Amino acid sequence: LKGARLDIAADLRAIGFPLPRSWTKKQLREAISDFQRGFAHWDLVIDGYAGPKTKRALDYCLKNGGRCSEHFTYREFASKGSSDTTIKVHRALVRGLEEYREEAGSTAILSGYRDDEHNDHVGGASNSQHLYGNGADVPPILWLGEVKALRRFSGIGIDSSGKVRHVDVRHLGPNTTGGTIDDPTIWRYA
Ligand SMILES: [Zn+2]
Repeated sequence: LKGARLDIAADLRAIGFPLPRSWTKKQLREAISDFQRGFAHWDLVIDGYAGPKTKRALDYCLKNGGRCSEHFTYREFASKGSSDTTIKVHRALVRGLEEYREEAGSTAILSGYRDDEHNDHVGGASNSQHLYGNGADVPPILWLGEVKALRRFSGIGIDSSGKVRHVDVRHLGPNTTGGTIDDPTIWRYA
């Protein structure tokens, strides 16, 4: 059993999850949960245990360049903090970004998950969806109306010209503004 756990930990590390060399069971369970939550190829139960479906998903992910969906990798959603490179991302966000990408073409994730320290560093809101792995910043390519029409995102930030810079799936997590995919919370960056 210990050997099987070592394999799982090695797989997770290869995909980009920053498990320490001497991980605790709690750390391993959290990394497995984060993997399960972000895996967008098919639905996995998010329970922190590597059962047969999760092991198949780990294999599939490794054979596909660490991708959590057809075009996005887990690593793209990692926190860019100095000390914390944890990866948290919701599969609904990834699936929404795949649809975004169909309209926008190749799309870089400028900011995905943010740990508390990194969020403070970049001046993020104290309840930012980035803190939950529910939000992503993208380059300004699509207009607000185009992104709303996808009906995938419940929070959308736009720049002064009206192009989308941020999308999130707050309807699936802490949702202090009540945004829905039909009536998203929309704001404009200065
Ligand atoms: Zn953002």
